[in-house]
Amino acid sequence: MRGSSLRMTGKIRRKASYISWMRPQDILIPLPAGLCCKPGGFHIDPVRPVERAVITHGHSDHARPGHGAVLATQETLDMMRLRYGDNFARTTQAIRYGEEIQLGDVTIKFHPAGHVLGSAQIAVSCKDLCIVASGDYKDAIDPTCTPFEVVPCDVFITEATFGLPVFRHGNAADEVKKLLASVALFPERAHLVGAYSLGKAQRVIALLREQGYDAPVYLHGAMEAITRYYESRGVALGELRLVRGMKKADLAGTITLAPPQATSDIWTRRFPDPVTAFASGWMRVRARARQRGVELPLVISDHADWDGLTATIEATGAGEVWVTHGQEDALVHWCKARGLAARPLDLVGYGDEEEHEVIAADEAEA
Ligand SMILES: [Zn+2]
Ligand SMILES: [Zn+2]
Repeated sequence: MRGSSLRMTGKIRRKASYISWMRPQDILIPLPAGLCCKPGGFHIDPVRPVERAVITHGHSDHARPGHGAVLATQETLDMMRLRYGDNFARTTQAIRYGEEIQLGDVTIKFHPAGHVLGSAQIAVSCKDLCIVASGDYKDAIDPTCTPFEVVPCDVFITEATFGLPVFRHGNAADEVKKLLASVALFPERAHLVGAYSLGKAQRVIALLREQGYDAPVYLHGAMEAITRYYESRGVALGELRLVRGMKKADLAGTITLAPPQATSDIWTRRFPDPVTAFASGWMRVRARARQRGVELPLVISDHADWDGLTATIEATGAGEVWVTHGQEDALVHWCKARGLAARPLDLVGYGDEEEHEVIAADEAEA
């Protein structure tokens, strides 16, 4: 009760304030270290060590070690701890979805981004101006994380990983059905599914379970810790086993999830005549699948596709859109054609987790 009355007070105060002279760039500005909020004294997803970092999600290009104070969801903090060890930051603070925190002269609030477990959009408000930094997001359903939430705002900062009209991801369940059909067709072969370790792999497993697949799912060793972590947060994934120590013949007819690069190296020799699959939004592009030697491309993405990006921009009601990491031009053009102010942010240092993943040396033979 007390929480809601506080929120009411906030709203009344905001309405009562007269015209703000604040411009969006006075609140957030792209700097080499990342998106900087000067009045709040923090950076969002900084790519260089900073005093105070506010982090959208656990992917390694957004969540880096070495900051002074880190504010993020509990899941994101835990993922950073898993990857970097206990001393990944000097201090940490967890924030829940819907919770508001005052930092300097701004108020920040976290909202679900639907990208991976614990992923958040960060709404930064100052006087009557609200900017939402959405990080990576998707509006498609995902049984492994809280659904994306549209946050009304004045300025929306969107990613553009799949910011071209050619990218329509379709239904992920249909892609998993393709995988199961192939398993049924080739019972003597193993199926090796390349999938990013944080988020994609767990989503593919959950989608398999939704289709009624109840056999054990096998994991590359590099995926064990993060997948167990998902389970510890209440994401049911059924029976999971490690490939390590399995006899080759016993892997016939099974499904294994592995980091994308492992599916094209000598690690695959332990599988009987493996069918190589890859779960990624890039699998919409046939040439990419061919280039990687992917026999069974599965179009499953943890990013919004073109329709998702444009529908989300419209739904936020934002009059201004800042486009970052990915294919900015088409989306900026789309916004301008609709009378929205739009510009690319030109932030550097953000990779494309659909495509790249580095496996630590000690995990390479796992
Ligand atoms: Zn991401
Ligand atoms: Zn990203």
